[in-house]
Amino acid sequence: MEQQASPQQWVRDQISGLQAGVESVEIDRDAQKKRIKDLLQARDAVLVAHYYTDPEIQALAEETGGCVSDSLEMARFGRDHPASTLVVAGVKFMGETAKILSPDKRVLMPTLEATCSLDIGCPADEFSDFCDQHPDRTVVVYANTSAAVKARADWVVTSSIALKVVDYLDSQGEKILWAPDKHLGSYVQRETGADVLLWDGACIVHDEFKAQGLRDLMAVYPDAAVLVHPESPASVVELADVVGSTTQIINAARDLENRQFIVATDQGIFYKLQQLVPDKEFLIAPTAGNGASCRSCANCPWMAMNALDNLAEALDRGLNEVLVDPGLADKAMMPLDRMLEFARKNL
Ligand code: SF4
Repeated sequence: MEQQASPQQWVRDQISGLQAGVESVEIDRDAQKKRIKDLLQARDAVLVAHYYTDPEIQALAEETGGCVSDSLEMARFGRDHPASTLVVAGVKFMGETAKILSPDKRVLMPTLEATCSLDIGCPADEFSDFCDQHPDRTVVVYANTSAAVKARADWVVTSSIALKVVDYLDSQGEKILWAPDKHLGSYVQRETGADVLLWDGACIVHDEFKAQGLRDLMAVYPDAAVLVHPESPASVVELADVVGSTTQIINAARDLENRQFIVATDQGIFYKLQQLVPDKEFLIAPTAGNGASCRSCANCPWMAMNALDNLAEALDRGLNEVLVDPGLADKAMMPLDRMLEFARKNL
């Protein structure tokens, strides 16, 4: 008769089974990464990843000569890189921007389902009506918009450059119509004093940061510098030592002498922060809920749709190609070009 294992032995067996499982998953992941590296070479492709994507994807982009950055630099890098295929790990508007700026290149994404609450919250037809109602205003849209919305704009901006562009337009006596992020728009309005009419959109990740929770955390870590992305509510922005885009947050963490930082943006940025300044400590700013009750918990659900598996499949089979209507792309190119030219001269 077969002897029953003791409870202790059963636990040991379970643990060793689990460890074997973990090792095999790691082997699978390593094999998948190797496959992606080989495919990038074979397909004459380069990986362009956003700071909010999975750390493994960011590491792959770096290891293969691609780029990890904010949406402005992603756009520039993809346009200037000689590869014939761009693989954009991020959300849909980033793939569209890459295609608009590089119409002769093939642009693939791990998934075409990854979108953005700002893009969703600004449908092109409603936005166009809004613009028609305010013909005296210069239309400035955030990069987180569809190609159709960009095509309706005079300027496209990213969070790295929004303040400078609106400041410049204000100095020219122009009144602004801003879309879609109301928090970034009102921050720009407060900082520049410009006449800004806001569209009512928000990022579901940054909208969840809470001032009271942040104050409580600041009391526990009084020496920590507070770094806040301007898509956060004004009450959170007010508590910041530095307000800035992802790249500006990374630069602040590198340059400030503080040893601890409370960071109000997507947690994906921690990969780059810890890589750049491993001896400093980073804490995520509190969001609306503890665990299950918040919608994103500082982790963009659409950015999280980019994974090794769908990245490899897209590359292997040429899936998820981003296509933009050429007429629309031509119109959207004008405000994008303006931004890139402005950035070249002013950043
Ligand atoms: S983090 Fe916010 S702004 Fe960025 S893609 Fe996600 S929903 Fe959009």
